[in-house]
Amino acid sequence: MDIVIIAIGDELLSGRTVDTNSAWLSANLDSMGIRTLERLTVADEIPAIIEALRRVKSRVKVCIITGGLGPTNDDLTVDALAKFAERKLVASKESLDIVLEKYRRRGLIVPVGGVPREALLPEGATPLDNAVGVAPGILMELDDFTIIALPGVPHEMKDIFERSVSGHLANFERGARAKVESIFTTGIPESRLFGVLEPVIDSFPDAKIAFYPSFYGVEIRLTGEVADARFRKFREAVREKASPWCYSTNEGSLPAIIGEILSLRGLNLSVAESCTGGLIASRLVDVPGASRWFEGGVVAYSNDAKIELLGVERSVIEDYGAVSGIVAGQMARGAAERFHTKFALSTTGIAGPSGGTPEKPVGLVFYALHSPEGTKVRSNIIAGPREAHRHRTSQAVLTMLWLELDGKYDNHQWADGSREFKL
Ligand code: AMP
Ligand code: MG
Repeated sequence: MDIVIIAIGDELLSGRTVDTNSAWLSANLDSMGIRTLERLTVADEIPAIIEALRRVKSRVKVCIITGGLGPTNDDLTVDALAKFAERKLVASKESLDIVLEKYRRRGLIVPVGGVPREALLPEGATPLDNAVGVAPGILMELDDFTIIALPGVPHEMKDIFERSVSGHLANFERGARAKVESIFTTGIPESRLFGVLEPVIDSFPDAKIAFYPSFYGVEIRLTGEVADARFRKFREAVREKASPWCYSTNEGSLPAIIGEILSLRGLNLSVAESCTGGLIASRLVDVPGASRWFEGGVVAYSNDAKIELLGVERSVIEDYGAVSGIVAGQMARGAAERFHTKFALSTTGIAGPSGGTPEKPVGLVFYALHSPEGTKVRSNIIAGPREAHRHRTSQAVLTMLWLELDGKYDNHQWADGSREFKL
């Protein structure tokens, strides 16, 4: 099924507010196998909204609107819906009950006449309860066209979508429903991954596969029906080929996967970060329950910090430089000792844009994993701006840890251009 999203609001058109609602809706619809055919952004004006609805009605059977459902006079979505459907605006008993209850609970003053604006719906439309705000969403089913209107406030929009809309949309899609499956990879660039998968893709020419690269890896998305044997075969073949780099098929966060393994085995982790500046620690604490396996970390940016906080030898820094494999190894070992952890990660590199030399160019980075087995160090030259350098380095060293925990490190097919640094 295809759908169109209409985001309503002058603030979206002026650029003051970024339309995050449409992206969030599309992503959620996508994971349900529903394609967003088009997105429109429309002003808070009744004729513009009606015009958009007319256009959309000729293209799809379902449209989702966000914005303009509030109580003020610039919120015109409901009026536009009534005009578009040629229905009266009424306060049904259901919507009035819902809205008055919210007014009572929040101590809001009910306007003269006893009908708050948020309770008005086009006749025959259904209110969709909003657990975190006042204005309900609206479900309006016309002969061959369904309109779902949601508030603009992002957390209200999400609440109604998750509790009422997604189930309703799933009903439309009963039967043969395309499903999107993700395969999350790390440590292999998009072009190489495509090369690895090309024979499979060639032998399933009608299969739908897409690649979504980010600083943290490439997400492969397959669209198909699980009931379809051919799709299952394709999925198996892709998973098999991607398996050296695939860390999950349902969780996009590598730190979450690492945390799961560490906590299952009762292991713990610390970090010593120079060029990543705390990003690794930040990514680790994004995982709920990280306190079970993450002890802590230090950002040791200067030479003195590396020496005093992590026990890196001054003579090593003098002889080899702060950006060196030996320093990376000592940083990781120092963190493991000071935080009393089985595992520790470290990073030291030249993020640029300045600071490079012919022997140590901008982008050069060393990162290490300390484990009960010893210390492993790798290096790479990571292109791109500082932000890319930081993010990619954090992912590279987390990938080392994931491979080690998974028992795959020693036989891994390295595809990220990194080299082993022998201590
Ligand atoms: P509204 O429902 O139009 O009164 O919107 C209320 C508030 O929600 C606005 O002030 C915006 O801050 C926010 N908002 C509205 N539409 C969007 C959108 N498409 N994406 C993100 N935020 C939005
Ligand atoms: Mg608005």
